[in-house]
Amino acid sequence: MRYRRYNIYMTNELTIIGAGPAGMTAALFAARGGTRVTLIEGNASVGRKLLVTGAGRCNLSNDHVCAERYTCGDPQWMEEVLAQFGIADLLAFLPTIGIFTYATHDGWCYPLSESAQTVVDAFYYALVQEGVRLLLDHKVTAIRNTSGGFEINFKTQRPVTCKHLLIAAGGAAYPTLGSRGTLFPILKELGHTIRPVVPALAPVTCDMTPYQKLKGVRFDARVRLFEGKTLLAETTGNLIFTEWGLNGPAVMDLSHHISTRPGGSLRLELNPLFASEEALRLLARKNRRSATPLAVLLGAALPPKVPSVVLPMAGVAERARMEQISDIELEKVFTLLTALPFKVTGVRGFEYCQVSAGGVPVSEVDPLTMRSRVVPNLQLAGETLDVVGPCGGYNLHFAFSTGAIAGMANRDASKPER
Ligand SMILES: Cc1cc2nc3c(=O)[nH]c(=O)nc-3n(C[C@H](O)[C@H](O)[C@H](O)COP(=O)(O)OP(=O)(O)OC[C@H]3O[C@@H](n4cnc5c(N)ncnc54)[C@H](O)[C@@H]3O)c2cc1C
Repeated sequence: MRYRRYNIYMTNELTIIGAGPAGMTAALFAARGGTRVTLIEGNASVGRKLLVTGAGRCNLSNDHVCAERYTCGDPQWMEEVLAQFGIADLLAFLPTIGIFTYATHDGWCYPLSESAQTVVDAFYYALVQEGVRLLLDHKVTAIRNTSGGFEINFKTQRPVTCKHLLIAAGGAAYPTLGSRGTLFPILKELGHTIRPVVPALAPVTCDMTPYQKLKGVRFDARVRLFEGKTLLAETTGNLIFTEWGLNGPAVMDLSHHISTRPGGSLRLELNPLFASEEALRLLARKNRRSATPLAVLLGAALPPKVPSVVLPMAGVAERARMEQISDIELEKVFTLLTALPFKVTGVRGFEYCQVSAGGVPVSEVDPLTMRSRVVPNLQLAGETLDVVGPCGGYNLHFAFSTGAIAGMANRDASKPER
């Protein structure tokens, strides 16, 4: 008790900047461990970005979460994070604050309510219940390293001082929701390296001249990204054609490879027949001399607009009958349909992306505690770190995991855990 009375920075206190999923999870774990928590948020409410996730349904995590699915400077680091707080840990934690979940057949995990609002409400009332001090509408403009602690400055309010600080202020994606990357220069001043912050999980802009008629068409495809002849990355998923390029998980998952190579000569190849090529070839063989148009046969696996665009590209008339097409022409159609080429021009900006890549490299943070290896008494969690997961709940999982680990590292050992 003497110690606590005379030390103005009590060791069982934690100040957190950012009431997103990472900051709120950290606050709850620390508070449940007996730590007094102050949670600072620039918005007037908590979890603004969480509210729009999963198109309002909040894709919380994924049954298949594993280190290999993340783009992270050190896979071993990521493994250590997930070993401490993986999917089972998250699914055990969420019901304790009133969030029940289910997973789709492909593992995407959602709240049973299918409502991000209920998730934000559950977090908010859990924070209140645990006695977390909330400073809303507090935009941090500067952080000064004081002797043994930090002074946090705001746009309008009086500064706050603390000894233990966790920065969970997100990245630079979707700036209207609060995270604008404004703390990166501050982190740099404090001594951290900041990797260039670029859009990730963003729509991809391409030369769509040959594909204008496909605007609005959506299908599943295997997508490969090439730089010259080098295959950079490959995904499979849903995508949609727009007038400026391609959107949807299949291309968004590749976008950070594009935004980190500005000016690169990049090409996408789409294979919408990745699951049906064999069956379609068989169908074509059976109908080789028939009067059925090739476009009709391709309709077994593709939206009808696709053959009408691709057949002329392969030099075949849109309504050509199977009996009129040569073997070489047929092969040309299949070759094109398994590698539809797109010249990449870039990615859409931060306003349209789901996360940002870049920020603090994981090598500067201890995965067992989220403590900075550069600045004493500082922790970092969530999107502020240079880690990108694919669509499907991976990024929220990362925010929850790193938040939970940071919060647990602040537990007051003298108090019983709740
Ligand atoms: C449209 C959209 C849909 C998405 N859907 C999904 C999905 O379904 N599943 C999924 O896994 N991921 C999804 N994501 C990504 C996911 O939202 C992020 O990975 C996650 O929110 C990151 O959590 P965080 O706590 O690190 O950062 P954030 O959620 O960004 O929270 C950081 C908080 O810090 C506050 N802050 C920032 N700077 C300051 C400052 N200077 N002073 C005070 N406060 C500050 C911000 O206001 C914010 O509330 C989506 C993202 C978007 C934009």
